[in-house]
Amino acid sequence: MTRTLDPSLRRQLSERIDFYKELGIYDFYRHPVRSGQAEATTLAPPDLGLAQNQPSSVMLPIVSVSAQAVDSEESLFSGSKPEAGVSDPADALRIIREDLGACTRCPLHKQGRKQIVFGVGNPKTSLMFVGEAPGADEDQQGEPFVGRAGQLLNNMIKAMGMRREDVYIANVIKCRPPGNRVPERSECETCSPFLMRQIAAIQPKVIVALGAVAAKTLLALNAPMAELRGRWYDFRGIKLAVTYHPAFLLRDPRQKKEAWKDLQRVMKELGLRVPTTSPA
Ligand code: URA
Repeated sequence: MTRTLDPSLRRQLSERIDFYKELGIYDFYRHPVRSGQAEATTLAPPDLGLAQNQPSSVMLPIVSVSAQAVDSEESLFSGSKPEAGVSDPADALRIIREDLGACTRCPLHKQGRKQIVFGVGNPKTSLMFVGEAPGADEDQQGEPFVGRAGQLLNNMIKAMGMRREDVYIANVIKCRPPGNRVPERSECETCSPFLMRQIAAIQPKVIVALGAVAAKTLLALNAPMAELRGRWYDFRGIKLAVTYHPAFLLRDPRQKKEAWKDLQRVMKELGLRVPTTSPA
């Protein structure tokens, strides 16, 4: 038998769901409670992969309610993403960008960012690169990977037989962290729902995570790069490979050989001709 929620619980849930939507989070899952409460359920947004070992204000379950009551209140959750049902990835990306707006969701908006760096490239691509966060050049120009690391990424893309405009490039974080510091976990959690929506809109055949921040955010794994590389992962039905961040390769060019192996694997997956020699 289906029960309805009591009005105050309904209001509480509705407010919390609106709060998540404001953060760009639209997908929720039901999380059973293992405390002898046979019927109880908690509702939470999807784990963005950064909750390891640390509690997070954003990731806390909303509230316990009976599973049956939730079934009767599906309307609460029915407000889908603004881009839902939009079949053209370019239109979907435009809608996601609009939803991001002049974002003030995390402190980076008041820590010297010049502009939001959303993403660039072919919305219908089969290959998407995900980096960490904009640096000074990207902040200045409003486009990801346009500085020195970007030049190297361009060369990597060229070595794969593609052009920069053939692929899509985005970051986990859309605003420059001051002094190019590594993004904080809370910043990744706040910003990454927009990356997830970009990926869902584009549906590339392959994602390449550039460096540890991208890999850990997308895979919810906390492992060193050496362990993360060299295999395929399934990211919501999309093949995902991890390779070194171009900025790291600039600091340690000896690792370029390893990165090239990663990219060759990607080329093979995409049906591209794989040259046997390394690029210069
Ligand atoms: N590093 C990144 O991770 N992203 C950029 O856009 C530039 C440098």
